[in-house]
Amino acid sequence: MIINEIIENDKAHYMNIFGPRTPLCFTHGAGAKLYAQDGQEYIDFLAGIAVNCLGYGDEGLANAIASQAQKLIHCSNLFYNQPQIELATRLFELSGGYKVFFCNSGAEANEGAIKLARKYFYNQGKPKYQIISAQNSFHGRTLATVAATGQEKYQAPYAPLPGGFKNVPYNSVEAIENAICANTAAVLLETIQGEGGVIEADPDYLAAVKRLCEKNDVLLIFDEVQTGCCRTGKVFSFEHFGIQPDIFTLAKGLGGGVPIGATLALPHVADAFSPGDHGSTFGGNPLACAAANYVLSTITKPESLQDINDKSEYFKTALMHLKSKYKAVVDVRGKGLLLGLELSGDINGKELAKTACGKGFIINCAGHNTLRFAPPFVITKKEIDALISVLEILIKEASENGSN
Ligand SMILES: *Cc1c(COP(=O)(O)O)cnc(C)c1O
Repeated sequence: MIINEIIENDKAHYMNIFGPRTPLCFTHGAGAKLYAQDGQEYIDFLAGIAVNCLGYGDEGLANAIASQAQKLIHCSNLFYNQPQIELATRLFELSGGYKVFFCNSGAEANEGAIKLARKYFYNQGKPKYQIISAQNSFHGRTLATVAATGQEKYQAPYAPLPGGFKNVPYNSVEAIENAICANTAAVLLETIQGEGGVIEADPDYLAAVKRLCEKNDVLLIFDEVQTGCCRTGKVFSFEHFGIQPDIFTLAKGLGGGVPIGATLALPHVADAFSPGDHGSTFGGNPLACAAANYVLSTITKPESLQDINDKSEYFKTALMHLKSKYKAVVDVRGKGLLLGLELSGDINGKELAKTACGKGFIINCAGHNTLRFAPPFVITKKEIDALISVLEILIKEASENGSN
């Protein structure tokens, strides 16, 4: 099929929730490069939105998936399967003692976290159900996670949403303090708001929220769907802050592209779930778990984390250099290989991302007119240099047009 035919069939047969998409159809990739149907090469600074951490065509990952597929793709959770328990054990060790439940996506992982928090207090006979989350957050597309996602545009069409959610301004201790009441079960936060435009939590804010949670018998949940799995240069981003959540969630990078999500909790919280309380048909299937075992065994090696941090510093320095040179760059944010460059209102970030795509670079514009970079960890410094040169040209051009 040629691209025009694909676009027509998409329009006729696929629900119109993504369209019009970028008119590109990728067929394969290698390292951090993607190839479209017409043979054009693109350097990928998005990684399927922080998913493809090992990049494309990784032989080890492909072999892990293929060899598991030859043995056993799925088996019901009425039985044990070895890749699942191996992955649970690996995550327990990496996290310093959290027990896990596996599902298939980030939204599902957050659903599990919300249910677990409520069940924890239900078991104690306490009427604590309210979940406080932040404005400008993103927690998924299911009804409950849309209720938790503090963005009006995602919520309005689906009213009435499940009750018991409250969205408050991010990075405001006072807002959390005022929102916590006798019915509050949990505070749910991203340590860096990825979709919201790579907005970092203030370390003092997280520390204060942690203290407020402890004081008020409220659980702290971190949504690490985007920030987890080494994306920020530590295995889990909460390690940057020295704060242990009671519950946290993973998905995106965990399977290197194979769908898998996880809800993790400290054992005394995790044990609030009893047989039958929660479940998943596909969650924890041997195929996805074999992929995740391979991914984690690779990306959590000290030399791999070191490499992520080296590239992060290199990348961030180059972005800061752009900021020092161009007024149109108002901020550079992020950690590890989740970086954001905020543009002033004079420049349309979405248009700039589109132009970059035409020049062979996949970037994306998230909230607050912020270009978001979440490349595969296999990105090279040379590829970063290439992006920076193009960004510089585009920002310069856009600045000049803007001042006309
Ligand atoms: C992407 C994302 C989700 C939703 O994940 P899905 O797999 O699309 O359900 C939830 N939380 C955060 C922080 C995310 O970035």
